[in-house]
Amino acid sequence: MDEFSLIDEYFRRRQEKSPWVIEGIGDDAAVVGVPPGHELVMATDTLVAGVHFAADAKPYDVGWKALAVNLSDLAAMGADPACALLNLTLPNADSDWLDAFATGFFTLAERFKVALVGGDTTQGPLTVSVQVSGWVPRGEAILRSGAQAGDKLFVTGDLGSAALGLKCQQGEALGLSEAMRCEAARRLDRPEPRVETGCLLRHIASAAIDVSDGLLADVGHLLVASGNRGCRIQANRIPLSPIYQAAMETGLGMSAALTGGDDYELCLTIPPDRLDAFEALRANHSVNMVEIGEIEQTPGIRVFHGSQPMALPASSGYRHFGEQLTTEP
Ligand code: ADP
Ligand code: MG
Repeated sequence: MDEFSLIDEYFRRRQEKSPWVIEGIGDDAAVVGVPPGHELVMATDTLVAGVHFAADAKPYDVGWKALAVNLSDLAAMGADPACALLNLTLPNADSDWLDAFATGFFTLAERFKVALVGGDTTQGPLTVSVQVSGWVPRGEAILRSGAQAGDKLFVTGDLGSAALGLKCQQGEALGLSEAMRCEAARRLDRPEPRVETGCLLRHIASAAIDVSDGLLADVGHLLVASGNRGCRIQANRIPLSPIYQAAMETGLGMSAALTGGDDYELCLTIPPDRLDAFEALRANHSVNMVEIGEIEQTPGIRVFHGSQPMALPASSGYRHFGEQLTTEP
C-alpha cells in the first residue's frame, strides 16, 4: 500500500462532504469557506508515541485523542469546529492499525461535524499531529486574558480522573475495581472535548482555558495572561468523579485533581454581572459546572480546604508558575 492508496482508503473515502469544504483531500491544499461575519480560530497539537501515549496504545484511542485535544483548544476559545488537517508519521502502513485509528478519529469528527480536509503522510517514528480550524462570530472568541478580580472561577465536569488513568497504566492499584480501572483508562485515553459548552460560554465567560497540563498550571497561565492576577481556589469544592472518590478511600489525596493533566475540562471565569446569565445557562446544560474559587488582584494561587490554607502539592504540574505560588491567605 503506497501513501496515496493509504490516504484514499482510510481518510478520503470515510467522510461525507461538508457544506464549507470547497476542495478537500486531493489537491495541493484545501479550500474552505468561512461564514460571513466570522473569524477563523486555529489550533494544533502533536502526540508522539512514547511521550503522549504508550507505543502499544489502542489505535482507536490514538485517533480519538489526537482530534479531541485539538477540539478542546477550540472549545476553550468558544469556537465552533469546522475542519482538520492530519499529519501522520508511521513506522509502517499496518492496515489494522490504520483502520482502527481512522475509526477513532472519524467517530469524534462526525460527532462535531469536523471535515478532514488534508494532511501529510510520512514514514518514521509514530507521531500524530492534528491541526483544527473553527470559527467564532467576529470579536467573540473567549480569550485567556479577560479575567478580572472578583470574577468567579468555574470548572466543567470533574478533575483528576485522567491522572488516575495514568497511575493505573503505570501499575498503581489505588484500591479500584476492574470496572473503575477501565473507566479511569477511558478518561485518559478518550477525553470528551467540551465543544458545546465552550460555544455556549461566548458572551458569558470573561476568560477560559482547557485543563491539559493540570488545574494549577492552567489557571496559572490564565492569571498571567489576564495581567498577572491571582486567585483563591477552594480545593474542597473541586468536582471529583466517583472513581476519584473511591481512590480517596484508600489514601489518594487532592494532588491528582490539582495538578494532574489530560482532563480536557474547561476552566472559566464569570464576571459578577454575568452570573445570572451563567446560572440560566447552567440550569439547562448537561455538563456540570462547579464554582471552585475567585480571581483576586494579588498575584499567586492560594489554595484552601475550607478556611485552612493548603500546602501545594510538590508536583511539576505548576512549575512555570512556581515562585508565585503561595499558601498565604
Ligand atoms: P503534496 O505532495 O502536494 O504535499 P501529498 O501527496 O502530501 O500532497 O498529499 C496529497 C493529498 O492528500 C493532499 O490533499 C493532502 O492534504 C492529503 N493528505 C495527505 N496525507 C493525509 C492524511 N494523513 N490525512 C488526510 N489527508 C492527507
Ligand atoms: Mg506532502
